[in-house]
Amino acid sequence: MTSTLESSASAVGPLAPAFLDSTAHRVVTGDRPTGPLHLGHYIGTLANRVRLQNLGVPVTVIIADYQVITDRADTGPLRERVRTLIAEYLAAGIDPDRSTIFVHSGVPALNQLMLPFLSLVTDAELHRNPTVKAESLASRRSLSALLLTYPVHQAADIIGMRGDLVPVGRDQLPHIELARMIARRFNDRYGQIFAEPQALLTSTPSVLGIDGAKMSKTRGNTILLGATADETAALIRSARTDSLRHITFDPHSRPQVANLLSIVGGLSGRDPALVAEQVGDGGAAALKTLAAEVINESLRDLRDRRAELLADPSYLDGVLLDGTSRAMAVAGDTLNQARRAMGMDYLS
Ligand code: ATP
Ligand code: MG
Repeated sequence: MTSTLESSASAVGPLAPAFLDSTAHRVVTGDRPTGPLHLGHYIGTLANRVRLQNLGVPVTVIIADYQVITDRADTGPLRERVRTLIAEYLAAGIDPDRSTIFVHSGVPALNQLMLPFLSLVTDAELHRNPTVKAESLASRRSLSALLLTYPVHQAADIIGMRGDLVPVGRDQLPHIELARMIARRFNDRYGQIFAEPQALLTSTPSVLGIDGAKMSKTRGNTILLGATADETAALIRSARTDSLRHITFDPHSRPQVANLLSIVGGLSGRDPALVAEQVGDGGAAALKTLAAEVINESLRDLRDRRAELLADPSYLDGVLLDGTSRAMAVAGDTLNQARRAMGMDYLS
């Protein structure tokens, strides 16, 4: 069985029929509260979370606050950032009555599950992880033990919350592979109790930022979901493209142009190659005008709802408290099962 599944169509298109048995899956995924969400999140994972929820799949979203300090010294304005994330999830269509949003620090059972999981991987395996290497390099700090082991922490999150389907961007694939390996090794050692989670990618698994590198909160190259229409248009105008006039869809030799075409295609449900044909000799200027229009149109309702939700912080806090108490029950239950399997249940 492959570990990575791709949506059958565009980022906002229908999912493959294999996913339609909604009762057979549990989605678990999340974000670091290092800043507000951007278009990469929306196209790379958030739209898929909402779509799966609306198909009836239970969805759990983790706000990974402990992971903020993997690559920096301080936690930042966490309360405000966590509220903003919740407002953005809800504005994108996550329904707190059907889905669970919780914060890492509120569910200590997941940290406890990490301990036996750490015993199942070697330090060489952790050091080989390409995403950890890239994040360590980008942080310009020496590699902390937390950054090195955060994929194990993430495995504990996914497995602890009983996730088997994980909608993520491409940068997360090595981590999901590790989570599968941990589930397998745990099962081999202590008995079959965990499912092996699978990554779910969209057709645009790595959205590039305006500088041509992966769009990322900490790189300052983002188009934020909360940006105004004018800010969005100005950012898109400043996005890197290339010097060829005629627009073609060629992700390998023209990654920045392909990125804009994929954004337009993903948001409007069209094939990026057909969008390229439509723009043709209009060149980068016409492509950017089209991209700004499509982004602003696609995000208009989300932005309105986001602003309304942010005006009601006590509601957002209530959503988090409620989700965190639900998550505590699930994670506590998994931890108990893991302990039983390990012969570590003699205290009770
Ligand atoms: P940071 O710079 O703080 O690491 P980030 O922008 O990389 O922030 P994360 O919180 O690390 O965002 O990622 C949350 C989820 O969003 C992950 O599943 C990740 O794969 C996905 N994601 C983030 N950026 C992109 C992107 N540019 N394209 C596609 N998916 C993305
Ligand atoms: Mg990241």
